[in-house]
Amino acid sequence: MKPALFDHVAPASIADAVAALAGHPGAMVIAGGQSLLPAMNFRLATPPALIDISRIAELKTLTVTDRAVVVGAMVRHRTVELDPAVARAQPLLAAALAHVAHVPIRNRGTVVGSLCHADASAEMPLLLLLTDGHMVVAGPTGRRTIAAADFFRFHLTTSRAADEIALEAHFPVLPAGAGWAFEEVARRSGDFALASVGVIVERAADGTARKVAIAAGGIASRPIRLTEAENALLGTTLNDETVELAAQAAAAAVTAPGDIHASAPCAASWWRRSSARPSPPHATAPPPPDRDRRRPPPARTAPPPQPPGSDRPTEEDGPDDPDPKEDGPRNIR
Ligand SMILES: Cc1cc2nc3c(=O)[nH]c(=O)nc-3n(C[C@H](O)[C@H](O)[C@H](O)COP(=O)(O)OP(=O)(O)OC[C@H]3O[C@@H](n4cnc5c(N)ncnc54)[C@H](O)[C@@H]3O)c2cc1C
Repeated sequence: MKPALFDHVAPASIADAVAALAGHPGAMVIAGGQSLLPAMNFRLATPPALIDISRIAELKTLTVTDRAVVVGAMVRHRTVELDPAVARAQPLLAAALAHVAHVPIRNRGTVVGSLCHADASAEMPLLLLLTDGHMVVAGPTGRRTIAAADFFRFHLTTSRAADEIALEAHFPVLPAGAGWAFEEVARRSGDFALASVGVIVERAADGTARKVAIAAGGIASRPIRLTEAENALLGTTLNDETVELAAQAAAAAVTAPGDIHASAPCAASWWRRSSARPSPPHATAPPPPDRDRRRPPPARTAPPPQPPGSDRPTEEDGPDDPDPKEDGPRNIR
């Protein structure tokens, strides 16, 4: 399929881009085109005009301050993934970006484009929510900031108005000494996640968790914070019992209906298992002697039985299929 006819406008400044969007009813912004162009080719989107922001120099900046990683709207996934200063300031970004599609897509796609696309399974929306980040958008009435908690409304739907352009995303830096983890389950490497989870834990001097953030993707109509699971861990030493309680709370948060990849009970079972699964500990600095455990230890429970007839892969199924023939445009959302 080919896209329907459209006008192409490529302004050189933010002001001109905002004016162009307002002057072309029904127009859409295009950044890397990795989600929008497939949707147009399938005629799932038929915008009469595209406002191409790729020539706006102001949107190509990636800044790391002592407070946040600030990603301009034309900064590609891969640039953020490979930046050493970003890795030091917010290591979750590189960890999660490694799961976004494939390198050729990450070479073109943008972090802000992914946030605006707002797929419920996408990694970047989960991360903005996990880190309590925010977006900066500009429209005919000026600029405004939208907190991550208010930005993602539904699958492919945000609170950005149709006449607003997202300018940048702010991901707060990882608090000093905090532990973190990012895990996801996908059928094959590069596929959208069936379920994904990010965790940040800050501990008090006595070893108890004084701040816990847990966000999940793919299990609801938008990325969500797992507040029940966070509360189950708060104030505890993250022992097997509390981690098990947190995993149960996480499994109860699955509201996504079944799809061609998994039934809803199967998804809950998988989610339950992945949220209690061990992963390597990560810390931004060498841990002091009394803080040698930076993330919840695995719950020592038997894996739940797979529902009959499930074709979902198991942890024992081995590595993902690396067949390059699989690199075609699939899972287009
Ligand atoms: C085969 C394949 C596999 C994929 N796998 C994954 C995956 O595993 N995880 C994942 O997260 N994504 C995945 N994707 C999606 C893709 O990585 C991102 O959605 C994409 O990179 C978004 O960025 P973009 O710059 O290409 O956005 P575009 O395609 O240009 O735009 C996407 C949407 O956002 C809007 N938009 C973009 N920028 C702005 C802006 N500055 N202001 C306002 N609106 C804007 C557009 O109007 C459009 O609606 C996959 C895509 C493909 C084709």
